[in-house]
Amino acid sequence: MRLSLVVPCYNEVEVISRFHQALGQELAAIGRAYEIVYVDDGSTDGTLDALVRLADADPSVRYLSFSRNFGKESAMLAGLRYATGDAVVIMDADLQHPPELIGRMLAEYERGFDQVIARRTRTGDPATRTLFARAYYWLINKWADVELMDGVGDFRLLSRRAVDGLLELNEYNRFSKGLFAWIGFESILFEYENVKPPPDRKSRWTFRRLLEYGFDGLLSFNNKPLRLAIYVGLLLTAVAAGYAVWVIVAAILHGVEMPGYVTLIAAITGLGGLQLVMLGVIGEYIGRIYYETKKRPHYLLKQTNMDPAERLEKPPAPDGRTTRGR
Ligand code: UDP
Ligand code: MG
Repeated sequence: MRLSLVVPCYNEVEVISRFHQALGQELAAIGRAYEIVYVDDGSTDGTLDALVRLADADPSVRYLSFSRNFGKESAMLAGLRYATGDAVVIMDADLQHPPELIGRMLAEYERGFDQVIARRTRTGDPATRTLFARAYYWLINKWADVELMDGVGDFRLLSRRAVDGLLELNEYNRFSKGLFAWIGFESILFEYENVKPPPDRKSRWTFRRLLEYGFDGLLSFNNKPLRLAIYVGLLLTAVAAGYAVWVIVAAILHGVEMPGYVTLIAAITGLGGLQLVMLGVIGEYIGRIYYETKKRPHYLLKQTNMDPAERLEKPPAPDGRTTRGR
């Protein structure tokens, strides 16, 4: 069997050679045939030059470079399309995904699992963030159609058929946590101790990005927010009808009285806010449709040491023919 590693890299010039060395050592110890597919996601710091040097020195290195920063989801997709192995491990270039775990992943793969998922503990994370994450995952698992798990990221091994399954999902808005869960197959999960990012490195997960990612998770895999809009609308209509009856009955029994304007203002602003939220939810879905209908490519290639025609656009046809190299 042959192992592929897919490594998205965005401005990783400081760690990339250290990463490559650590990975190389581990893979040598494992002693299987392998290739490493580095995907430079439009780095501006010389990561591409570093990758070219690595490729010159090491024939197992293959690299792709994007014309600009397209995001990690696109980088992973590109890597998966070009990976040729029977099993593919996706990992970060910043040494937060310990290469020592690859051996264990392979062992599980050999026991027959299609997805071997490494789940990080939350050691060292700020307490508030852990709390938020717990609440969020509790909520989303009540809600979404696929199960998403706290601490589970992109660090995992995928069998060939799992990769082929992922490649069939060609959507533009790629919420990979959900995609991985969507494809299914035999999965197994193990935990590893969280590795802190280097202290000089700012996490790209600002509060705002986390919030947006959270919304993506809520909206990418179901249409329940729209359903919720209907329920809330029905509930409010019922409340309004009840209130109207109450006012009329009170007027008949006690004569007409003029209640304060506070009720009125509260009702107007409350309803206005609610309508805006619901419009926003609908807008989110329309925005997604807008991007999907454009059918733009997920990325543009600038440079590679592979044959650009060698990518796997679609999984092999059932008769064994493949579309690779078309
Ligand atoms: N990355 C990427 N494109 C981006 C941002 C990040 O390819 O636009 C890569 C990055 O080089 C790293 C991995 O994705 O290998 C995870 O990124 P990062 O460490 O910034 O995220 P975190 O560990 O905080 O989730
Ligand atoms: Mg990281």
